[in-house]
Amino acid sequence: MKMVDGKLISIEGIDGSGKTRQANLLAERLTKDGHKVLKTFEPGGGAGGMLLRELLTKNSSEKQFQWGPETEALLFTAARRNHLDTCILPAIGRGQIVITDRFADSTRIYQGFGNTELRHKIDQLHDLMIGIEPDLTLIIDIPVKLAVTRVTNRSGGDARLERFGEQLEQLRQNFIALSHHHQDRCKMIDGNRTIDAIASDIHRLVSGILL
Ligand code: ADP
Repeated sequence: MKMVDGKLISIEGIDGSGKTRQANLLAERLTKDGHKVLKTFEPGGGAGGMLLRELLTKNSSEKQFQWGPETEALLFTAARRNHLDTCILPAIGRGQIVITDRFADSTRIYQGFGNTELRHKIDQLHDLMIGIEPDLTLIIDIPVKLAVTRVTNRSGGDARLERFGEQLEQLRQNFIALSHHHQDRCKMIDGNRTIDAIASDIHRLVSGILL
């Protein structure tokens, strides 16, 4: 086993950008390199996080579960706190490399979308209740049309894609803007390439912070 300090790596981007696929490949490659790895996702984590995930997913599909933007931001933050306490922080403490498919940037981008005041509150909530940023954030960028095609092929439709509809391009641009704002930890990845080419790029970038 290689001895490095624990690290938190988040993978972000619009749905269909290839996050899940790349998180799995990165976990495989780092494990092969001899690292201890924990792959996880948001909203999720432990049992509590999964319960909150269920509530949040219902929000997209069932009318009576529409929480409203503020409540949704609070629920995502609650799920994240649970994820931190039960999964992420203990793993980092054990010297593991934690790869999370989505983290706080997704809340900034999705729940803060089109609402400057709430976006500001989300940042404050993050500082108060979460308080850590990933060591590295990989933002996979692909054209919206391609994302829609991939997601439609994968599952025959997706609630969030439908919810954002024509605003998906703006969502994509917001991820790009966020990467400029947090240049110290964010790297943009061109996701419009073969799975292997992207995986090699990501592996190289991550290896760079594990030296
Ligand atoms: P996300 O987790 O970002 O929603 P996924 O990893 O689930 O994205 O990928 C969405 C779909 O696109 C999946 O069916 C996946 O196999 C496919 N896919 C992912 N990356 C690529 C790629 N670079 N080229 C072609 N298809 C891809």
